[in-house]
Amino acid sequence: MSGPAKAFLAFIVGRPLVAIAIAAVVVGILLLRTHHQKTPVTHRSQHVELTDAQQMQLGSQEYAKTLRENRARIVSSGPQEAEVQRVAQRIETVASRDKPKFVWKVTLIKKNEANAYCLPGGKIVVYTGILPVTENDAGLATVLGHEVAHATAEHVAERIERNKLTEVAAAIIAGGIAVTPGQFARISALLGVGASLPFSRSQESEADHIGLIYMARAGYDPHQAVAFWKRMQRASKGKAPPEFLSDHPSDEHRIQRIQGWMPEAERARESSGAS
Ligand SMILES: [Zn+2]
Repeated sequence: MSGPAKAFLAFIVGRPLVAIAIAAVVVGILLLRTHHQKTPVTHRSQHVELTDAQQMQLGSQEYAKTLRENRARIVSSGPQEAEVQRVAQRIETVASRDKPKFVWKVTLIKKNEANAYCLPGGKIVVYTGILPVTENDAGLATVLGHEVAHATAEHVAERIERNKLTEVAAAIIAGGIAVTPGQFARISALLGVGASLPFSRSQESEADHIGLIYMARAGYDPHQAVAFWKRMQRASKGKAPPEFLSDHPSDEHRIQRIQGWMPEAERARESSGAS
């Protein structure tokens, strides 16, 4: 063995954390294998490397961190919490047909910000600040349909791949330590939590489409989605845009597209048995 190789081996053996980190990276990368699937509703062909199980693990880690950080702000009773649980349950039931392995859970957090998001694998966070804008169950179903669609269409995994961070994500999932704080922050930023690294316009549009069909399949009136987006646009004038407005084509364009999907949504609602 050459001198440098011996020195490297000695370095590894002397530092178990580094050895564990390297093992985690290796294990994580071995689990990566591109799988092909079609997105729900829009039937777009996708090539995604992170498996459903890996996406669920990544989302659960971030969710646990969010709940820890916001422990004092979690709303666990009252009419707002009941509404969030009631509407989420109906949307989750519909989304489960596309992603049967995902484990859904929703948490309402007291925060004066009109936002919500769904992490990979089905963990949802809703801020109380969006409830005055959603106004009713159908409005909230519009938001939850859109957010849940990002998860079932595996948009975060696509973003991670586009940013060439799949191996880093796999390492986080496998060991949670094989990364620098900077890399960890980049993955967190890609999880759809804030508006700092927005979804692409085509992903936003796809989430609008899938979300509209989801709310209709759950028995809500899809025309209420248009009313909600108009209220949302009024409410967010002059403010930092929330996740779902962060990189979207113009407001008018969005509503036009939603109107275009309306016949499909009406059929979906009729098949749901709602009157
Ligand atoms: Zn979105």
